[in-house]
Amino acid sequence: MKGNIVTADVATSADLEHTSAGAGNAAAQTPADLLADLRYGFNGEIVTPADPEYDGYRRHFNRRFDKHPALVLRPANTVDVVAAVRYARAADLEIAVSCGGTHPAGFSRTDGGVVVDLSLMRAVKVEPMEQTAWLQGGALGGDLYAEAGRHGLGGVMGWMRTTGVGGVNVHGGWGPLSPKLGWGVDTILEMEIVTADGEVLRLAPNENSELFWGARGAGGNFGIVTWVKQKLCRVPEKALIGTLMYTPEQGPDVLRLVDELVMTASEDMSMFVYSSVVPDEPAYPEALRGRHGFMVVVVHIGDRDQAVEELRPLREAYPPALDGVVERSLYDFTCEMDSFIVPCRQWYDFVEVEALTDDVIEAVTTSAQRMEELELTAELTLVAVGRGRDPEHPSALAVGNRPGAWLMMPDTFWEDEADDEKNIGWADEFMTTLSTCESHSDIGYGNVQSRPDVDRERRSFGEETWQRLVALKRQYDPENLFHLNHNIPPA
Ligand SMILES: Cc1cc2nc3c(=O)[nH]c(=O)nc-3n(C[C@H](O)[C@H](O)[C@H](O)COP(=O)(O)OP(=O)(O)OC[C@H]3O[C@@H](n4cnc5c(N)ncnc54)[C@H](O)[C@@H]3O)c2cc1C
Repeated sequence: MKGNIVTADVATSADLEHTSAGAGNAAAQTPADLLADLRYGFNGEIVTPADPEYDGYRRHFNRRFDKHPALVLRPANTVDVVAAVRYARAADLEIAVSCGGTHPAGFSRTDGGVVVDLSLMRAVKVEPMEQTAWLQGGALGGDLYAEAGRHGLGGVMGWMRTTGVGGVNVHGGWGPLSPKLGWGVDTILEMEIVTADGEVLRLAPNENSELFWGARGAGGNFGIVTWVKQKLCRVPEKALIGTLMYTPEQGPDVLRLVDELVMTASEDMSMFVYSSVVPDEPAYPEALRGRHGFMVVVVHIGDRDQAVEELRPLREAYPPALDGVVERSLYDFTCEMDSFIVPCRQWYDFVEVEALTDDVIEAVTTSAQRMEELELTAELTLVAVGRGRDPEHPSALAVGNRPGAWLMMPDTFWEDEADDEKNIGWADEFMTTLSTCESHSDIGYGNVQSRPDVDRERRSFGEETWQRLVALKRQYDPENLFHLNHNIPPA
């Protein structure tokens, strides 16, 4: 079956028949023939190890990965993506798909295979009247915030500009507008996907609906998503956005109060907390310099007076050591967030706890103190995940289904391989301590797990959801062509 093709960049079914190596006698062709065939109709760029740009495209944002693909294919449109998939199959090469290319397990790169790099496919087409946007499969958070912002709108994507729709929203997507709109997967109204067979399918509630459900949470297992239609909402040009910084001593009380506030605040208010060591610099109050602070990040997209009122209990009960919540645009804030994480060696882990109980808070403060002692450039991030999930339109996403739940994420960043053990050891120690807490749930979020673990994925999804996803995998990718992801094995 040729799928319904939903976007203007895609040509006719006849064009798809003529994409490289796809339809016919691939078995008889040599590798050189296959590559020549691919070059013939490819609109994007084909980067080989001989090209000067190769190194730039093969390198990963997370320097723990240093892989050397045989080719980097940079498709310009959906037809090129079809050609890339058919080429990799015919040449029997492993496929890695890269959108923002930041996933901490390094899934977007391969040794000796083909990287399908979607960075030429970053279009965002906003429909202001219906408050929706079509995002091409390589679009990044910054593309969405900038383009939607021009129309006084915003949508869900991560907190930084550099992560992309194919990674973030197809597999989760917690961002500043999540309390209002839900996680990224919850805001997806329609998708276009290229399957392992090189078919182009439209996914919507009334078309390929089972795959539409599964692709919102586990999409990379079933194909390459080339377009996503997302719901948007109104966002003022400037809103109250920024960070309240607290001392280590204030941390536990602040966490308890934030736990209350996130559940009672309006959906215009987004809040999360992280702890990290504050630079020992004059720009910061003395009480914080060189110590592990507790930072409450706030984005309020509603009325200014209401925002001030909603923040009042926190500001009054616990005056921050530094109050950086000011009027600014959401886009400007995501630019500032970008500056915190630059290419280096990185480690991320994640677990959901059912509630922010005293033992969890104790685990957080102990681990934050340890981060300071070890002089790590690291973060312990805590996010109330339940706000905004939509029980009426369930997706395959495993996390955030309990209203009071929190995500606990140790993230750490360093340069030297010799420091791997110290950094990863710190994150592992935190996860081990949390596992002894009563409210520990063992639910993971594949998007921020550095260590692929099929058993944990299975437990996180739950058996019923897992079996539904396995059935979809068998139908759409029985040979597991798309396995560089938090994988759902077909068998
Ligand atoms: C610095 C940093 C900040 C982060 N901030 C947030 C945040 O605020 N909120 C949040 O929810 N998460 C966040 N994350 C986690 C993030 O969701 C994942 O790292 C995500 O995978 C990043 O998206 P990407 O486009 O860079 O993914 P990539 O590394 O490009 O890809 C990730 C996975 O998705 C697959 N994939 C990519 N594009 C497609 C596509 N078009 N179709 C099908 N499969 C595809 C890849 O094959 C791979 O398996 C952050 C991660 C980092 C490193």
